[in-house]
Amino acid sequence: MKKISIVIPVHNEEGNVYLIYQRMKTVFSKLENYTFEMIFVNDGSRDNSQLILEQLSQEFDNVKYLEFSRNFGHQPAVKAGIDFADGNAVISMDADLQHPPELIPELIEKWEEGYDVVLTNRKYPKEISYFKKKTSEVFYKFLSSISDVDLKKGGGSDFRLMDANVVQSFRNFTEDDLFLRGLTSWMGFKQTSVNFLACARNAGESSYNIKKMMKFAFTGITAFSVKPLYLAAYLGFMFSALSVVGYGIYVIESFVSGTEISGWASLIMTIVFFGGLQLIILGIFGIYLGKIFKQVKERPNYIIRSKNL
Ligand code: UDP
Ligand code: MG
Repeated sequence: MKKISIVIPVHNEEGNVYLIYQRMKTVFSKLENYTFEMIFVNDGSRDNSQLILEQLSQEFDNVKYLEFSRNFGHQPAVKAGIDFADGNAVISMDADLQHPPELIPELIEKWEEGYDVVLTNRKYPKEISYFKKKTSEVFYKFLSSISDVDLKKGGGSDFRLMDANVVQSFRNFTEDDLFLRGLTSWMGFKQTSVNFLACARNAGESSYNIKKMMKFAFTGITAFSVKPLYLAAYLGFMFSALSVVGYGIYVIESFVSGTEISGWASLIMTIVFFGGLQLIILGIFGIYLGKIFKQVKERPNYIIRSKNL
């Protein structure tokens, strides 16, 4: 019998925990050669999730939980689950049933074919807004183009299977700003992906708003690319060259026409423009400096308050 560990981050998901366990049980009752354990990571929920997890784990031996001391975020929660999982393969997925457990047999099949990592490509049903589809697609294309990782396949989803081997190497990461989608892609191994239709969230509401999504996108870019840092150098060269040309034109023109060109407005706009540009670049430097600052402190990604494994 092979054991599959299912890692599920939980943030205010009291209405979903029982249901996802039931659906998982049904899925695995049809798979003969596999057992499963579920590792729920309670990421500082403020509802009754913890109570429900404790009850569920008393009822079923294969339900484990980790309770964080506060909300650390989705990515640290997934990392924690992976750190504690000891199955032959580990699958991470959301608690809200947007990731259908019924896809798991397909993931396992690919794994048995010899793939170490099986990613999933989320296809959106018609109901999901065009805006969300497009922004996510454009973001992962952009990120793939400016960084060393390719996120075009399976980029937009944290629903994936990893072989125990991959999990082992994964545990060695001590990165502060976690962006697991990028890390899995960066690690290599034999990867493949399968498609699935994203479902609507079951109970409760999404913990992600636009602000959090932007922050996550920023984390992704700065964790996998130093190209923004080069911006200063590129722009510097460009504008220096431009100013030399501009100065030449100005000198020739004032000789030819014999008058000096007045232009208070254009002067002010130029000053404002370059002031803004310099602040932006300073800001980019600041972001990377902040990351270094956070990293050198070597604080753990998460703190566990209680657990049953
Ligand atoms: N989640 C978490 N910590 C957080 C936010 C979310 O553990 O701070 C979990 C949440 O319980 C769910 C998964 O991460 O299992 C995805 O979150 P959500 O469904 O809110 O995001 P969306 O699907 O809307 O992007
Ligand atoms: Mg969701």
